[in-house]
Amino acid sequence: MKIEIQNIKEISPIILLSVLLFVSCTQLPIVEESAEESAEEIVQESVEENTDTGLTDNTELVSVEEGSATIVSDADVGQVLPSQVEGIPAASGELATAEENVEEVEPGLRGPALETESQLIEEELPSVEELARINEEMRIQQRNVDILCEEIGNKLGSISVEDCLTQDLEFAGAYSVNARPLALRDFHPRSLEGVKTRVLIMGGIHGDEYSSISIMFKWMSLLRESGGNNYAWRFLPSVNPDGLLDGQAIRQNASGVDLNRNFPSEDWDIAALEYWRNNTGENPRRYPGEAAASEPEVRWIIEQIEKFDPEVIVSVHAPYHLLDFDGPSQAPDKIGDLYLHQLGVYPGSLGNYAGLDLGIPVVTLELPSAGIMPSIEQIETMWIDMLAWLNTRSQSEQRAGL
Ligand SMILES: [Zn+2]
Repeated sequence: MKIEIQNIKEISPIILLSVLLFVSCTQLPIVEESAEESAEEIVQESVEENTDTGLTDNTELVSVEEGSATIVSDADVGQVLPSQVEGIPAASGELATAEENVEEVEPGLRGPALETESQLIEEELPSVEELARINEEMRIQQRNVDILCEEIGNKLGSISVEDCLTQDLEFAGAYSVNARPLALRDFHPRSLEGVKTRVLIMGGIHGDEYSSISIMFKWMSLLRESGGNNYAWRFLPSVNPDGLLDGQAIRQNASGVDLNRNFPSEDWDIAALEYWRNNTGENPRRYPGEAAASEPEVRWIIEQIEKFDPEVIVSVHAPYHLLDFDGPSQAPDKIGDLYLHQLGVYPGSLGNYAGLDLGIPVVTLELPSAGIMPSIEQIETMWIDMLAWLNTRSQSEQRAGL
């Protein structure tokens, strides 16, 4: 090299050029870093309508932003090649990085996904107003259950309003045709050891069978007083509250449907209405409804069967003074003074749907009178016999390795 440096004035342009060269070289990694950082921001900004990145530097970054604007507007970041982005040939690696970063976002969820996630996080934290609304809703639901108890206590001779309120029934998420709450009460097994059969027990599917509802409350009281037993019980004490409480009690629900003919048994479509016409003479008390499971009360019972997944279902009726049984497993010979007398099933009956179609044993207790309660001794004997049968059944299933 022949350039001789004479003085500082001659040196300065060279130094200046060198500095410029140095700066232009060392800027690349800086820009790259910035671009990498901005890659995520590019995506975020696409959500925020490409507002300021927060980076304040130079034309390269402006070009990247322009590139991101293109990317966002095309809504197809993965297909944008570095060469398509003008003004920053040296920064092609940056865009590769940007693409990679964007590609990591689920393809169908780019950009907006980030917004959705942040919204989800916000939704997990209900506002004070939302909490107040939920609280108010629960208060109204509880009030509705209390009103139901007032109605039941005033209607049934052997159950007082207090008897009902004491059971702490809970609203179970559904209403009858006339907007009465459908309520339940769960009793958990006394011990986690030993037998843990789940039993779904219901009364009053026919609204005018008073004793079938009253006996639910008597048995709930026995359970409470005894501190529970080995079984998980779900009580549905009055599954047709409108039939019981709308003026004169009736068998059907408020839509005039016999709920015990409205279950979606496999033969419903071909047989239910035909049976009603030909075998009952279109008796309105046996009307199965226009379609299977057309009634909210029936849909609610089905939901309880699905959620609670019972191993045994007990349904209480009156006044035929017998014990009926549908489904698998060994039927009890007797419960109290009710003796086994299997009647067979009807299209749309609970025994048909749950017992035969779903394979859940259904015990049907037909109390001797709809209007007169069994004696206290009989109520207790029936309960003890039911427990004994459950116990025998559980033990035989355990022996069979079920
Ligand atoms: Zn009945």
